[in-house]
Amino acid sequence: MITAEEIIAQGVCPHIPYNDLCADCANDPSQLSYSMNVLTQLTHSTQVEIFNWCGCEDGERQYDDCPTQQ
Ligand SMILES: [Zn+2]
Ligand SMILES: [Zn+2]
Repeated sequence: MITAEEIIAQGVCPHIPYNDLCADCANDPSQLSYSMNVLTQLTHSTQVEIFNWCGCEDGERQYDDCPTQQ
């Protein structure tokens, strides 16, 4: 299974050229742009880790791997 670190490593900063990371992206990996190929490999827990967003908080659905439930 792909880890959040591996997904973040494939993210590209959309703010500056040459595949460099701006300070915003370094601090907040949700700012990076990810290819669809990478995004399809997200699990719920890596999604929460990278994008800091969890639908479980809305009560719509509980995921077994949700980091906010631990
Ligand atoms: Zn950036
Ligand atoms: Zn969740």
